[in-house]
Amino acid sequence: MSYLAFEPFVMCVVCKSSLTSAASFFQCVNPACGCRYPVVNGVPVLINPASETFQQTDFLSGEAPDIFFKAYKSPLRKFLKKVQPDITLNRASKKNYSLLAASLKHKTEVRILIVGGSIDGNGIQFLKNELGKDTVLVESDVAHGPNTNVILDAHNIPFKENTFDLVIAQAVLEHVLDPFLCVKEIYRVLKPGGQVYAETPFMQQVHGGQYDFHRFTFLGHRRLFRHFKQSGAGLVAGAGSAAAWSLRYFITSFAPTKTVDKAMSYGVNFLVFWLKYFDYILGQSKGSYDAACAYYFLGTKEEGYTLSDKELLLLYKGFRY
Ligand SMILES: [Zn+2]
Repeated sequence: MSYLAFEPFVMCVVCKSSLTSAASFFQCVNPACGCRYPVVNGVPVLINPASETFQQTDFLSGEAPDIFFKAYKSPLRKFLKKVQPDITLNRASKKNYSLLAASLKHKTEVRILIVGGSIDGNGIQFLKNELGKDTVLVESDVAHGPNTNVILDAHNIPFKENTFDLVIAQAVLEHVLDPFLCVKEIYRVLKPGGQVYAETPFMQQVHGGQYDFHRFTFLGHRRLFRHFKQSGAGLVAGAGSAAAWSLRYFITSFAPTKTVDKAMSYGVNFLVFWLKYFDYILGQSKGSYDAACAYYFLGTKEEGYTLSDKELLLLYKGFRY
């Protein structure tokens, strides 16, 4: 999707004024600010020039980094990556994306923001395939990738308030420095009645190298979204998947060097992946809520609503202390 579709909704991340676009850059309309944002291969880079975390120049090459999206060149590595079994049994995404698609079906001119959307998340085709032709789908990331149509920092989202009907953050909030600030930004850019969908890990080891900062329990995740009214929350993957992750990382922790770790990582999934199938047996067990691999939250922006911490404690689903 070309940026022309969402150009009317973007704003300057420095002064919050509107932006106008030229062929190779976006320009803030506020003369006192005058901030300019590059457009690289048709992708606007709407990063604050004063940001300490990301520099606009990081994105000028237009190349995808080797962090989450790995474009392997060697046929052998491509093959090994393809045949490697997934160690997570995701039992939520397809169902939730189908529910979201159904909830948007009767609406026109739907606007969706995907945060961390450089590549397709698990099950997202169940939403994407159902979108109307007039849908504005903004697939954002802090990296170029096959889907990225805007580069942004989720701590400082370059969209005006009340813009989106749905914001998706699938396996993203563990990778941001300040998830509370990011959720505040998501709330701001959602329309009243707009929905948020998030999947966030709990019992998963470090992935994405140095870009991995947080984990949430079921209640911790709910509190992160306390200004949203809940329409769904639960397990994405349970204790079986968590066991597979744990055993995988236990084995690779014996690797003496990065090269050995990399080599081991190709084979180790074959040794441990079967553990995830216990999630079929465990289902929604209480114990799984205390030991889950990941949780999801689906909520609605209702202005003035906040879940109190007293109400939060009543939502505990594990084995009560
Ligand atoms: Zn500005």
